[in-house]
Amino acid sequence: MENKKELRGWLDAMELPHPLVIAGPCSAETEEQVLKIAHDLKDTDVNYYRAGIWKPRTRPGNFEGVGALGLKWLQKVKKETGLKTATEVANRNHVELALEHDIDLLWIGARSTVSPFIVQDIADALRGTDKIVLVKNPVNPDLPLWLGAIERLYASNIKNLGVIHRGFSTYEKTKYRNNPEWQLAIELQTKFPDLPLINDPSHITGKRDMIFDVSQTALDLNFDGLMIETHFDPDNAWSDAAQQVTPKALVQIMKDLKVRKETDPEAEYSNQLNNLRAQIDVLDNQLIDLLGRRMKVSDGIGQLKKQKNVAVLQTKRWNEILGKMVLEGEDKGLSEEFILKMFKAIHQESINHQEKVINK
Ligand code: PEP
Ligand code: MN
Repeated sequence: MENKKELRGWLDAMELPHPLVIAGPCSAETEEQVLKIAHDLKDTDVNYYRAGIWKPRTRPGNFEGVGALGLKWLQKVKKETGLKTATEVANRNHVELALEHDIDLLWIGARSTVSPFIVQDIADALRGTDKIVLVKNPVNPDLPLWLGAIERLYASNIKNLGVIHRGFSTYEKTKYRNNPEWQLAIELQTKFPDLPLINDPSHITGKRDMIFDVSQTALDLNFDGLMIETHFDPDNAWSDAAQQVTPKALVQIMKDLKVRKETDPEAEYSNQLNNLRAQIDVLDNQLIDLLGRRMKVSDGIGQLKKQKNVAVLQTKRWNEILGKMVLEGEDKGLSEEFILKMFKAIHQESINHQEKVINK
């Protein structure tokens, strides 16, 4: 598939003065809850009202959604508030029920995107409709798998498409619930600049007090919209309680976010600059993260050397590393002077770490 302008026709047609906003509870819980949140969101920037009807849960025994009954509540939302509606579908049966209940936008969840069988089943069930379909990234950071899902839908003649970036599972614990791996979203955007790209800071952060920062980063990186889980009583939500915000907090977030301006020559310049700076910020954070991990490995070497009573400084090994890195650096357009300076500093820090371990 190549980049196609038609992919974003549905979004351009809305002529929004701000990024697209999809908001609403993680799960539809009761008719009352669904309607109350919808009414709270009625006269805000929210464009689509989301609610999970069938909930994929990591372990059994948790609330798994109210099922088709909830679709009736979403129909009521549309009738009473005028908000368009959105829900997650994970199989042909979900699609058929969502179509019957006139849901406006469907999304494929992270646990479904990983399975070509599931995506194909959904694509087949949607053939011949003009639904808007957004594909969440797969739980693993695999760009071809994510794009493959889009291709399957496109091949089924679904042309109103978009993607939702909700972060990726990692074995290592980070401050995020799902690591953003921004460079993946940037790569996708570079390949498909016309594919609408929505950020889901709720599932990336897992914590409501981190949602603003992640949303701002997404807007600085040219994302087209945000999907933010919203509940009038987040702490007592039946799923994803820690990450949901109140409708009032959502309005404040939308107000505080710096949205990229329409083009004039000046704004174009600062837009590009902000975009590049956001990319630099992401990479710098990764550098620090990598250096931290490198020093943890050094600590491990320190432990080993301590056990065997071996000296910290191993000149031969060190010269080998330096020689190799100078060559690698040359390949990447980095000067020998810079590589030597940087690796001297890294080496010194590594020695300090090992010294500390050995002399403890
Ligand atoms: C959701 O949006 O509520 C959801 C289950 O998301 P994800 O597929 O990203 O985990
Ligand atoms: Mn959720």
